[in-house]
Amino acid sequence: MSRTVVRGGLVITAAEEMHADVLIEGGRIVAVASSGTQEWTADRVIDATGKYVIPGGVDVHTHIEMPFGGTVSSDTFESATRAAAWGGTTSIIDFAIQSVGQSLREGLDLWHAKADAQCAIDYGFHMILSDVNASTLREMDALVGEGVTSFKLFTAYPGVFYSDDGQILRAMQRAADNGGLIMMHAENGIAIDVLVRQALERGETEPRHHGEVRRALLEAEATHRTIQLARVAGAPLYVVHVAAQEAVAELTAARDLGLPVFGETCPQYLYLSTDNLAEPDFEGAKYVCSTPLRPREHQAALWRALRTDDLQVVSTDHCPFCFAGQKELGRDDFSKIPNGLPGVENRMDLLHQAVVDGHLTRRRWIEIACATPARMFGLYGKKGTIAPGADADVVVYDPTAEQVLSAATHHMNVDYSAYEGKRVTGRVETVLSRGELVIDQRKFTGRAGHGQYMPRATCQYLH
Ligand SMILES: [Zn+2]
Repeated sequence: MSRTVVRGGLVITAAEEMHADVLIEGGRIVAVASSGTQEWTADRVIDATGKYVIPGGVDVHTHIEMPFGGTVSSDTFESATRAAAWGGTTSIIDFAIQSVGQSLREGLDLWHAKADAQCAIDYGFHMILSDVNASTLREMDALVGEGVTSFKLFTAYPGVFYSDDGQILRAMQRAADNGGLIMMHAENGIAIDVLVRQALERGETEPRHHGEVRRALLEAEATHRTIQLARVAGAPLYVVHVAAQEAVAELTAARDLGLPVFGETCPQYLYLSTDNLAEPDFEGAKYVCSTPLRPREHQAALWRALRTDDLQVVSTDHCPFCFAGQKELGRDDFSKIPNGLPGVENRMDLLHQAVVDGHLTRRRWIEIACATPARMFGLYGKKGTIAPGADADVVVYDPTAEQVLSAATHHMNVDYSAYEGKRVTGRVETVLSRGELVIDQRKFTGRAGHGQYMPRATCQYLH
């Protein structure tokens, strides 16, 4: 069995920091010991002196090869997982989609067909429920039993993903019984559709109007409503891509009551704003996603909530569409711009930049990017930490290297970067996935098909 030692780095987990050596055998971490105290022999020694040694990132919100608005997100599982590895992420959870009229099983099978044997890093699935009915409610139990333990519902996108309050309540009741976790896209889609039509009738067709009609109050309203529905059902709730300070306030109020309510945000809400949506010459289309970017005043509330644990996770909602030929579908009508931003490669670096900027501590960086997402979705122990018994998903991170984020150098299959020209401090140097080198001192050494499907336990905060 091959043995690797990662020697001399500062090992950072959500719980602690220590100068330590990490011994890896058979794809797992078998020992962590204070630097230089053990004379381990190994086939491979990785010198991490002056570097951080951190758990591989866990990105629990991606949309790869996802059909949307007449097109398909531009990354394949092969390209997205390679880019994720470049960015220090070693696990993703993507959203398998049940379309209206389909069974959950058909949706899940379709996603396995796209992903299996293609991924460079480990992957799992959540299930999007587009059609809550007696049969799909029964199917939820079976999926939980086989490791698809989280289900996403939408109060947005009427006619596509939308569920009404009764459907949401029934799915929550089922989750309360079977241990599943309901994830919510919380925006009032019925009201938003009215505002979209009215804006277009006034001739307001530009990308910035996407942000204006998807009002912060309509995010807050849906957040509030679905929290109350979860209380009635006795179910936990995880609100995805929180963007508005008013929605953060709803989550904070719920958590102050001791409710099992959780929230995630994404780097785009922390670093970008409606200023980007207003960029001229249709450039704003690059930043069209839902929930939308908010005025920059909202960012302080998000950073604060990440520090106070009112938000627990930062995922990417990686959903890339090329500017040429895809975003351009909405040149005359913002409602036809495919919703989504690329970011799976950038998350660990942007959150390290938040450490440099003083928004987060190093341990909190690892907590929101690795440990908590793993625990939230039933992967902790194997993923999200550096400890004996864990999978050897280990990143050697250079905290002083400088880089400039750009489409010219990124590895995602998309023709622009949402962070073009942004200078950040810190960079991934080497990445191990289950003990195998996938990035070796800034060279990709992984392969499609190395990544394994991860059946998941239920949310580890609930028991
Ligand atoms: Zn999403």
